[in-house]
Amino acid sequence: MTQIAVKVLRKKQEALGITSFELGKADGSALPGFSAGSHVDVQVPGGVTRQYSLCNDATENHRYRIAVLRDPASRGGSISMHDALNEGDTLLISEPRNHFPLVHAKRTLLFAGGIGVTPLLAMAQRLSAIEADFTLHYCTRSAERTAFRDEIAASAFARNVKYHFDDGPPSQKLALDRVLAKPEPGTHVYVCGPTGFIDWVVKSAEGWGWGKDQLHVEYFGAATQDTTGDQPFTVKIASSGASYEVPAPAFAGMTF
Ligand SMILES: Cc1cc2nc3c(=O)[nH]c(=O)nc-3n(C[C@H](O)[C@H](O)[C@H](O)COP(=O)(O)OP(=O)(O)OC[C@H]3O[C@@H](n4cnc5c(N)ncnc54)[C@H](O)[C@@H]3O)c2cc1C
Repeated sequence: MTQIAVKVLRKKQEALGITSFELGKADGSALPGFSAGSHVDVQVPGGVTRQYSLCNDATENHRYRIAVLRDPASRGGSISMHDALNEGDTLLISEPRNHFPLVHAKRTLLFAGGIGVTPLLAMAQRLSAIEADFTLHYCTRSAERTAFRDEIAASAFARNVKYHFDDGPPSQKLALDRVLAKPEPGTHVYVCGPTGFIDWVVKSAEGWGWGKDQLHVEYFGAATQDTTGDQPFTVKIASSGASYEVPAPAFAGMTF
């Protein structure tokens, strides 16, 4: 895949633990186009590659904006982005790819859990631009951990966004049964966030009779897999005849 060299035009703290980065060509020329829901692979300082969703208006071609949650259990990706990447630095990214595209719908419901707001924010911008009927339910642990609140408040779609804070009063908590209990033909649902959040929304919707084709999800991490029964094995290189032992996972029971 083609690599693009980009410069960090702006680094900004968006909320507690969340930093955004605006990326553009050093010479100001146009970047490849993208659609709402796209992400790029970023070669993070330190060498690892991580995916980040584009959370700016998809009609912009002078910048990509990504927002990164600092993961305390990071093996290097998000912490390097926060600590080692600064305005003026260059980095390599892939062209945007979209595995989470919007489809034409009579009505659209977006469910964001925490940093899962990033692709959904680009979708909200797009849906607002085409004057579509949509609501973004934005769930976070607290107001201080909620990125883009000022931007949303100043946007044309401020009224389409409903906030749900874990530490807020019960009346503002997301009552899924109120918004999803009656499946609606022509409505499409998009969910992004922690695995438990996605599974809660999707399993509830399926239980209420929503069709699989109406439910769209993007996971930010691989699902946890049970590797309890995994055994070590040997691989043999055909050309040289050399053999290598591949041990069972060090963390028995879980892999990522
Ligand atoms: C399509 C897509 C879009 C994404 N968009 C965004 C985005 O917009 N913003 C964003 O912040 N992130 C996004 N992500 C997630 C991002 O790519 C990274 O996974 C994230 O930043 C964490 O990377 P890390 O290197 O800091 O953590 P990692 O080292 O990858 O660790 C992630 C988690 O794995 C677990 N873990 C770490 N090491 C081990 C181990 N040895 N054994 C078992 N478990 C372990 C920890 O619980 C940790 O929380 C996206 C991912 C995808 C696939």
